[in-house]
Amino acid sequence: MKDSLDVNDPEFMVRLLTMADAEKDAPRMDDYVHLSSLLRVECPRALYLRQLVVDSENARESVNSATRVVWAIGRGIEAHVREQMIKAVGFTNSIGKWRCACGKSTLEGTGDPTLSCRYCKTPLNIYEEITLRDHKKQVSGHPDFAFWHNGYVYPVEFKSIKKDDFLVLDAARLPPKYRRQLFGYGVLFRRNGYKVGPHGFIIFVNKDFTWEGTPYKSFHIPFTDGVDQQVLRGLFDLAGELRHVRQLKASGEDILSMLPPRLAVCSGTRTPTARRCDMCSYCFLYDNNGT
Ligand code: SF4
Ligand SMILES: [Zn+2]
Repeated sequence: MKDSLDVNDPEFMVRLLTMADAEKDAPRMDDYVHLSSLLRVECPRALYLRQLVVDSENARESVNSATRVVWAIGRGIEAHVREQMIKAVGFTNSIGKWRCACGKSTLEGTGDPTLSCRYCKTPLNIYEEITLRDHKKQVSGHPDFAFWHNGYVYPVEFKSIKKDDFLVLDAARLPPKYRRQLFGYGVLFRRNGYKVGPHGFIIFVNKDFTWEGTPYKSFHIPFTDGVDQQVLRGLFDLAGELRHVRQLKASGEDILSMLPPRLAVCSGTRTPTARRCDMCSYCFLYDNNGT
């Protein structure tokens, strides 16, 4: 606790929490691009800057308290829905990283009730998210849940949304980024040796209370080839290029000259796309040819 804080200050607790919320999160300690970061890519230059040029300390965003509270609510809803899902289908039909109470024994894949830890003797039935990796393109991801049925994996994503958005949501209004995320998990499961079912599921949860109806809406997302799959393949290829540039960086090559050009819509720092971009200030530090 900072010495400057005074326990007699009426805002003492709020200041404490605000300070804790403002702490930057620990950086991800591997070179893999997370699928969710890849799907946020509006611009290859931003991805290059985030991954390769800006040091990890600066690249970590500071997050304000309101955002942290919203994230915590989202995580709480996700944990609840997943727990109910595991209860409903059984942990032998749920894919995750299962661990015992002491954490020394883990198992990836479907739960196995015959296994227990040789140290603490408890069953391996505590769920943790599985990490899937595409080693060639260096993309990783943590699906919210995956359901195992007749030898096939069905990836499942949970999204909590406000009541007004929930009530009008239908298949035609599904944002493409959600479908692409599910396709991405399908690809990652395949690269990790699983057989993937013909579709995945997105479950939307209404995070506001209502007296009527169910708070869940579920959509089947067929894994058929189309525009979204092509976009996703392009993003995986982009991640593969990053891997190559990362290797060049490690061998001391000048990677700034490989920085992709600025988008035409980012003619200045005040344009709408540039203002939304977390790499904007770094982007305008360098010329279009990276100098
Ligand atoms: S400011 Fe525009 S061009 Fe620059 S990195 Fe961001 S989105 Fe890309
Ligand atoms: Zn144990």
